[in-house]
Amino acid sequence: MTPDTYAAAGVYSRRRWRPAPAIRLSILLHGAGAISLALHPDMWPWVAATLIANHLVLLAAVFFPRGRLLGPNLNRLPASAVERGEVCLTFDDGPDPEVTPRVLELLERYQAKASFFCVGERAQAHPEIVREIVRRGHSVENHSYGHSRAFALYGISLMRREVESAQAAVTAITGRAPEFFRSPAGFRSPLLDFVLATAGLRYVSWTRRGFDAVSSDPARVLARLTPGLAAGDVLLLHDSAPVSLAVLPALLEQLAARGLKSVSLPGACSPSS
Ligand SMILES: [Zn+2]
Repeated sequence: MTPDTYAAAGVYSRRRWRPAPAIRLSILLHGAGAISLALHPDMWPWVAATLIANHLVLLAAVFFPRGRLLGPNLNRLPASAVERGEVCLTFDDGPDPEVTPRVLELLERYQAKASFFCVGERAQAHPEIVREIVRRGHSVENHSYGHSRAFALYGISLMRREVESAQAAVTAITGRAPEFFRSPAGFRSPLLDFVLATAGLRYVSWTRRGFDAVSSDPARVLARLTPGLAAGDVLLLHDSAPVSLAVLPALLEQLAARGLKSVSLPGACSPSS
């Protein structure tokens, strides 16, 4: 399917791409460099140095997942959600047949809602779990199709295929197109915002993350998530990591003790909410 047929099938609605200021500046520098070389070929060392510096800045931005240099980035909930005392628990890398159903049970016990950034091919392998996530009132969002660690290095066509295949997979299972996207490992290509605009997706990072995918100590994961925990926070956990099952009850208790309510991203960001 092409982007047009995806849009026509209602898999997503496009939004207009407005390049971030850093991307606009980069395009401008490349144009100015080409004109300078045409008029004054002997200026090539200056042009080359400028463009290399420009690319180094963009490359550095890839490794700041919470930054906004490369485009809009939701790393906190909007003010209206803060006023309502809301936070959002987000779970990456599922669905997992062992962990995800138990995460759903824990969320149910504490009447908490969450957003699950599912990997497209894992969603296709476990569609019944994905449907159960939605049946319990949570949202399923897009975390790419294959979750390649090299995702941030992909060119536009490969990146678009990863985003759109996951979008189509989740929509086919749940009947709802994801509204939000998070990159594998949180690394964000300078080209990604253009791809997301075409797919009608918003980029989401996090306020705090537990590093539960790399740490098996629940106390340490909890200690990364809870200091300063406040309304508007977006918390990142993994429903592929069994340690999240040990962290969740204590985390949900802390949310309740602070009067905070966990909601899904669409619940927190909907204009009508
Ligand atoms: Zn991931």
